[in-house]
Amino acid sequence: MRNKVIFGNWKMNGTNAAVKEFLKAVDQSANNSEVIAGLGLPFTALSTGITNAKNVKIAAQNVHFEKNGAFTGEISIEMLQEIGVEYVIIGHSERREMFNETDATVNAKAKAILQANMIPLVCCGETLATKEAGKTIEWVNGQIKAAYEGITATDAIKTIIAYEPIWAIGTGKTATSQDAEEVCKAIRQNLATIYNQQTADQITIQYGGSVKPDNIKELMSMPNIDGALVGGASLLANDYLALVNYN
Ligand code: PEP
Repeated sequence: MRNKVIFGNWKMNGTNAAVKEFLKAVDQSANNSEVIAGLGLPFTALSTGITNAKNVKIAAQNVHFEKNGAFTGEISIEMLQEIGVEYVIIGHSERREMFNETDATVNAKAKAILQANMIPLVCCGETLATKEAGKTIEWVNGQIKAAYEGITATDAIKTIIAYEPIWAIGTGKTATSQDAEEVCKAIRQNLATIYNQQTADQITIQYGGSVKPDNIKELMSMPNIDGALVGGASLLANDYLALVNYN
């Protein structure tokens, strides 16, 4: 049985005061025995998140793959570990599009995170142009192949994949549950080719892109969708709780 994992992604939102208030409202009820609930926070609010969350897992939204050095403005894995962060979102389309994140840096980050016994949430997803060209599966499979290059099966099963079609992020356009399922199924088949079926069957695959309380249940009913990565709707305490307690 794969874990069901529903994470919010607050992006560049969330003062320490706001994070504290939010966790006060949601943490106690985010204790669904069938779902791992999490929240991706800005670096400056991670410590507040860790201190105020018992049930909600706290994730960073990025990390550098080098141990330390002359990388002005970057944060290392050791720095995240020091404050108790266990999960790191990598390769989000916003980072790929606006901050030069590439398949190669996603791969380097995934390896470094796993080496530190932390868990990467590896994002992938296609643009509208790629979708309209009928190349979604080819594109996403290429991103996954590159992200998992040199990662052993033993490590791969600890990771989480977030399939997030870029055209569905923050647009209110959700992929239909059938379309999302088709791509998540193809990702699993690709993982079976890279590793083997047993390994592929153990890897959690989330869908992301305008997930809301009113569509989570249907998405989660799909056999290859094991969770969700949620932007906008995760900012509201009531919506967040409806998502992580969708069942
Ligand atoms: C995201 O940024 O990961 C995301 C899926 O955003 P939204 O839910 O707002 O579409």
